[in-house]
Amino acid sequence: MDAGPDGGTGAGSDGGSGGGLDTAFFVAWLEEAAGEIARQRDRLTELDAAIGDADHGTNLDRGFSEVLRALRETPPASPAQALTTAGATLIRRVGGASGPLYGSAFRQMGKALEMIGAPGAAVTPAALAEAFGTGVVAVERLGKAAAGDKTMIDALAPASRALSKAVRDGLETPQALERAAQAAAEGARATVPMTARRGRASYLGERSVGHEDPGAASAALIVAALAAAASRTAAG
Ligand code: ADP
Ligand code: MG
Repeated sequence: MDAGPDGGTGAGSDGGSGGGLDTAFFVAWLEEAAGEIARQRDRLTELDAAIGDADHGTNLDRGFSEVLRALRETPPASPAQALTTAGATLIRRVGGASGPLYGSAFRQMGKALEMIGAPGAAVTPAALAEAFGTGVVAVERLGKAAAGDKTMIDALAPASRALSKAVRDGLETPQALERAAQAAAEGARATVPMTARRGRASYLGERSVGHEDPGAASAALIVAALAAAASRTAAG
């Protein structure tokens, strides 16, 4: 494979310039996400114990470990390939609703990047924002969920809007991703008073009120990992 100019050049490259996000940045994103999910596995599982079946942390930890393994086995040659590999792995390896949902999001993001730019080329912040939006739409379609249903959408959709706005406003990439991370965290917190209308938690009806949605919590970690990857690849 031809990892070419992307391979290993993440340090000091495009994290902060707005000039483009390379393959190393997207691998760093997935690594940061996997690390944070592993560290917060028990918290995610406890959230799921309250309104679901107590498997969200273990589901995702297993899935993202498999993603890292897949990326090591077949180092991606482009940002799009990093994301489609992650998506396919999550769909295959994660039991539960969240696997196909996150898997489709990553896969559709990858496909969107393939359509937007030349394969292998670095991704502009605007293209990342557009692809992220495509990923959120994939979750909405597959899950038939909308904002306010107390799902991962309640973190992902505000993050997508914040990212698009920040890019339009001309913020530097790390700041734009930080805005997205903040919006996702606020979105996750905002699920606490909601009544679940989709997924397993919806079986509880009103009894789901008062608990943070586990998928919204993990979505906030995954978006925060984008910001972490930007500072890591920019800071070297
Ligand atoms: P399961 O509910 O099958 O045990 P997980 O525990 O891994 O799967 O994931 C649960 C999370 O998945 C929920 O907290 C919610 O955020 C998300 N989720 C479940 N169903 C849907 C859906 N239809 N649309 C969007 N998100 C959903
Ligand atoms: Mg569960």
